[in-house]
Amino acid sequence: MKALGHLFENNQKWAEEMVGKDPQFFSNLAEQQSPKYLWIGCSDSRVPANQIIGLNPGEIFVHRNVANVVSQTDLNMLSVVQYAVEVLKVEHIIVCGHYGCGGVAASVDGTRHGLIDNWIQNIGDIAEAHEDELKSLEGAERADRLCELNVLSQTKNLSKTTVLKGAGDVGQTVNLHSWIYRLDTGRLIDLTV
Ligand SMILES: [Zn+2]
Repeated sequence: MKALGHLFENNQKWAEEMVGKDPQFFSNLAEQQSPKYLWIGCSDSRVPANQIIGLNPGEIFVHRNVANVVSQTDLNMLSVVQYAVEVLKVEHIIVCGHYGCGGVAASVDGTRHGLIDNWIQNIGDIAEAHEDELKSLEGAERADRLCELNVLSQTKNLSKTTVLKGAGDVGQTVNLHSWIYRLDTGRLIDLTV
């Protein structure tokens, strides 16, 4: 049996199901993509962009990394944003975090984790900047609030990228959204300011 054969079986079933509903589904998609949304989310396997907002292939452009960080020095993320804004002309960019984010928790747990510490340093800085508010909260509430602050701060970072500023200069409207997902209910919450 082929390695991971069950995944190929799943794929075959899924592709047949999609064609059953719409015989042209894949042939239309193969010609072009025109998603209206870009999703910047966490790599966490429990937060799959398409599924949680009920979108099909072709409907959302996706970038994911640990703790949905938007870093001005991340060429990968910046290239995705540039392509989404300048070529695909997405109208909305959603920065979506989630409660119970391991990356966010690791940024403030005071232990060393290796390379990832460089990546999440930026979240430790957010925690420091909001120290008073976070100190007034206990345990789970404090962790939840830092997840929210992280989403808001990463959205702010996104608004400051050259790509977004450039879009504004030519009158292209790109709406930024800050969302957070609750793992234990499957529900999204809009934090957009
Ligand atoms: Zn996460």
